[in-house]
Amino acid sequence: MELTRAYKFRIYPDAKRQSEIELQLTLSKEFYNLLLEKSIKSYREGNKKLSMAHLNKFAKEIENDKRFLQIYSQTRCEIKYRVLKAYQNFFRRVNEKKSGKRIKVGFPRFKSKDRYCSITYPQDNGSFAIVKKNKKHILRVSRIGGMQIKLHRSIEGRIKTLTIKKRGGEYFAIFTTVKEVELPKVENTNPVGIDMGLNSFIALSDGTKIEKPKFAKKAEKHIARWQRIIAKRHKGSKRREKAKLNLQRKWEHVANQSNDFAHKLSDKLVNSGYTSFAVEDLHIQNMVKNHNLAQSIYNASWNRFIQMLSYKAESAGMKVIKVVARNTSRQCSNCGNIQDMPLSIRGYNCNRCGMQMDRDINAAINIFNRATLGQRGSHAQGESVRPQRGAVLEELRTDKTHPLLDAVIA
Ligand SMILES: [Zn+2]
Repeated sequence: MELTRAYKFRIYPDAKRQSEIELQLTLSKEFYNLLLEKSIKSYREGNKKLSMAHLNKFAKEIENDKRFLQIYSQTRCEIKYRVLKAYQNFFRRVNEKKSGKRIKVGFPRFKSKDRYCSITYPQDNGSFAIVKKNKKHILRVSRIGGMQIKLHRSIEGRIKTLTIKKRGGEYFAIFTTVKEVELPKVENTNPVGIDMGLNSFIALSDGTKIEKPKFAKKAEKHIARWQRIIAKRHKGSKRREKAKLNLQRKWEHVANQSNDFAHKLSDKLVNSGYTSFAVEDLHIQNMVKNHNLAQSIYNASWNRFIQMLSYKAESAGMKVIKVVARNTSRQCSNCGNIQDMPLSIRGYNCNRCGMQMDRDINAAINIFNRATLGQRGSHAQGESVRPQRGAVLEELRTDKTHPLLDAVIA
């Protein structure tokens, strides 16, 4: 099968290229927002679907303004995909709300200058190239020009896309590559369930617990501090812009730490002798928006971790299985009893069978059972258990996008 990887390198555009990048980002942002505006208008007029055909039509109208033709044609195409993706999320949430979930659903948001920080060249068809000049590597990009690139490791596989990203005043080039590989065959003899713990970062059905990483709490302090500073400074002032840059750097730093943590943990799990992984189907973005910054950093780390685990497990010939998340904490993994479990209670003490267990481990065993037995499969002694349909939602497949790519582009 084809495996996708992402590589991120620092690039050093001179003043002229920086202004070219700036121009491309500004135009791309405007293009994105105009596409979104037209999509929302069409939705309001009763057109409840949005397809690529619609977006192509909208794009044609927008391109009547010749300024937008300065954006490379395939980059424009990629912007349409970004809008489509934002819309698919929106439709998913609309459906979830219809089916009874208590969530707020708003249209995808317009991007501000600070939120639109990358441009993508989808295919390596001559729109970009790396050349060597006087012992230095130069990245040449259509509509931008040549920039020095620091290739700190070699790129393996065939390059598919290039993304230029500006973050915290620094510039990066991110390549995705594909490589054809032969997957090993793994017999599923040692599956494990993983719970996103309340007291731990994750808990496993075999009793293992992984502590929450410390960086989230630290980052929370720094970020809150810079947010306060920005709020105090005058809009449009130089000092405010400077503070915003600092905040962006803090976020970039947390994203790197989170990536690093997810990398190490997923490596560890894939190399621990487990043969498949069961996880809850959590749409974390849809979880109650809480104002606890550290918790939202944990949630993002969890997402990242699951993406990486899926990607690495798959590359190693193992599966990651998503199960229905309902009641994983409230159900007794021994007798199937369901009882209230307030967040303050750390242990599961079953009021029916008397089982006592760490709450996160109990949840991990439930997840394990759902993947291997069935959703409500009680497995009390003597009872036969048949797998129930609908317990396993899907096997996660990750060959389309690379977790790192989402992470670095976001
Ligand atoms: Zn019980």
